[in-house]
Amino acid sequence: MILLGSTGSIGVNTLEVAKKFSISVEVLVAGNNIELLNSQIREHNPKTVVIANKDDIHKVNHNSVTCGEEAILRAIEEAQSDLVVNALVGFLGLRPTLKALKMGKKVALANKESLVACGAFIDTAKIQPIDSEHFGLWYLMQNRPVEKMIITASGGAFRDWDIARLESATLEDTQKHPNWSMGQKITIDSATMMNKMFELLEARWLFGEGRYDAIIETKSLIHALIDFKDGSTTAHFAHASMQLPIAFALDGKMQENILPHVDLLKIGSLEFREITTDRYPIWRIKEELLKTPSRGVVVNAANEAAIEKFIAKEIGFMDIAKTVIKAYEKFDTLPKSVDDVFALDEEVRAFIV
Ligand code: NDP
Repeated sequence: MILLGSTGSIGVNTLEVAKKFSISVEVLVAGNNIELLNSQIREHNPKTVVIANKDDIHKVNHNSVTCGEEAILRAIEEAQSDLVVNALVGFLGLRPTLKALKMGKKVALANKESLVACGAFIDTAKIQPIDSEHFGLWYLMQNRPVEKMIITASGGAFRDWDIARLESATLEDTQKHPNWSMGQKITIDSATMMNKMFELLEARWLFGEGRYDAIIETKSLIHALIDFKDGSTTAHFAHASMQLPIAFALDGKMQENILPHVDLLKIGSLEFREITTDRYPIWRIKEELLKTPSRGVVVNAANEAAIEKFIAKEIGFMDIAKTVIKAYEKFDTLPKSVDDVFALDEEVRAFIV
């Protein structure tokens, strides 16, 4: 396989699963964590390696190392492997997704920003999402009339904070996720609830038109629920580990044990909460955005730009949602092509600077 983002949280889990299924690694793509990359090279012996910066090339213990976005696209084009695992973070992941699809490769997609920004122009038939909520929905899907698809959220780092304190929340505070250990950006997105909004958009592109919603389940043991027309509701339980959706995306057979079962007697009880707009103001645009999911490109670009500013301490935590909503209200044109998506992404980022 070709693994983009090998040194990240999903990348590391993917290599664990690849070892289990004896999948060989042809290309490794990483950013700045050269120490971890070198240990991955020793273990997986890839043919080609791509990193983010030229200055780091001499530190990589491999004789075929290139750098930059174009090099990622070239590696996808030249590699023999039919499977691309895209675990890059952010809009940076979109071009590689499009390139892999153009080359006729199957994409195991953790990079949800690809679908959020460009879902209208991506053929999802060749995509296998790596996300527990979409895996859960897929697992529950039957040939029965569906009323509503529901995914769950943990509530993120601030679900139990006094709302008045949120204004002064720091980057470090955002990273104290109650249930999952993930990369920095998605952990911020969990705290604002943007991550769940992205997952609803992702679900909309993957499963088509319909009713979608999200609720908080504080233990992250239920990942998805389906309300069927007849009044039945089914739920997907699994421990909070990305290895299950990754294993399905890489292997597809689901004949081996990946995780221990959830023991309900040990769990004892579950707690569900509503996602409220006072704690998660981004939720105000949810219904409208789901009706016009192509506007995801604006929300994604504004979110990435606002997060950069938050990390640089130029804005506060609650300003992230305000910035996104401001951009969402200003840019209401719908992209009509992939080129429009890239142009709109640039325009929105320029508006926020
Ligand atoms: P991380 O931040 O942990 O990992 C991102 C990866 O991308 C790292 O390998 C990083 O390299 C690499 N990278 C960043 N910039 C560049 C660049 N310019 N060139 C090459 N490589 C680069 O993120 P996660 O693994 O948490 O998330 C990845 C994606 O998966 C996101 O879209 C996220 O929303 C999604 N996702 C994550 C889940 C999770 O549990 N973590 C669950 C479901 C979806 P380096 O670290 O070496 O700098």
